[in-house]
Amino acid sequence: MSEPLVVVEGLRKVYRSGPKEVVALQDVTFSAYPGELVAIRGRSGSGKTTLLNQIGGLDRPDAGRVVVAGQDVTSLGEDALLALRRDMLGFVFQSFGLIPVLSAAENVGVPMRLVRMPADERDKRVRMLLSLVGLEQHVNQRPYELSGGQRQRVAIARSLANRPRLLIADEPTGQLDSQTGRQIMQLLRALVRSEGVTALVATHDPSLITLADRVLEISDGILHEAALQGS
Ligand code: ADP
Ligand code: MG
Repeated sequence: MSEPLVVVEGLRKVYRSGPKEVVALQDVTFSAYPGELVAIRGRSGSGKTTLLNQIGGLDRPDAGRVVVAGQDVTSLGEDALLALRRDMLGFVFQSFGLIPVLSAAENVGVPMRLVRMPADERDKRVRMLLSLVGLEQHVNQRPYELSGGQRQRVAIARSLANRPRLLIADEPTGQLDSQTGRQIMQLLRALVRSEGVTALVATHDPSLITLADRVLEISDGILHEAALQGS
């Protein structure tokens, strides 16, 4: 087997608000390999977002470590972390996270501007990505002129802007109806294959789990490998 792209070891995260403590992650350990689509399943409050935030360097754990593409995310300084996020990671959120005043094409182009990609190359890549997600007819529309499923397609295209190695998707279908949600999961499934990225997808939607290569189950901050069902 190839080297893992993501290694998570002994991850622990405790939230303290006043005298109360919430142990959001307890000794979480797993690896994800290049090209894998790993679903992280668990009820609301089980620790999915906390886990993805530690892996994506959006937050720091109390113990343990995360290595992505050979870099120890948990010990990187702010600048190196920013660079890692910009160059290696793509994020997809439940609420899409698009910039309302920008068109679909401009939203997808934002990460490319951040790395100062030349304008002609950027335009070409934006068009390619928007057609990859089936939105070639909608490049000039703003988020409010798009359906929920179309907005999430724009967000997925944007997440691929800088050719990430790892896609982190936190309940990407959480705001969509079940049929649209299924289409979005199928799109992610196809893109993981065609773009060769690894994806970690948090969801509590059981019907979407069958598209994953592997399922990790989390409850009360404890992670277990789950048997694949159905498919
Ligand atoms: P999920 O994404 O699976 O719904 P979360 O990772 O958001 O779960 O939350 C895990 C636990 O940590 C929950 O008990 C939640 O209330 C708690 N939690 C999450 N974020 C914070 C925070 N910033 N401060 C305090 N507690 C938090
Ligand atoms: Mg969450």
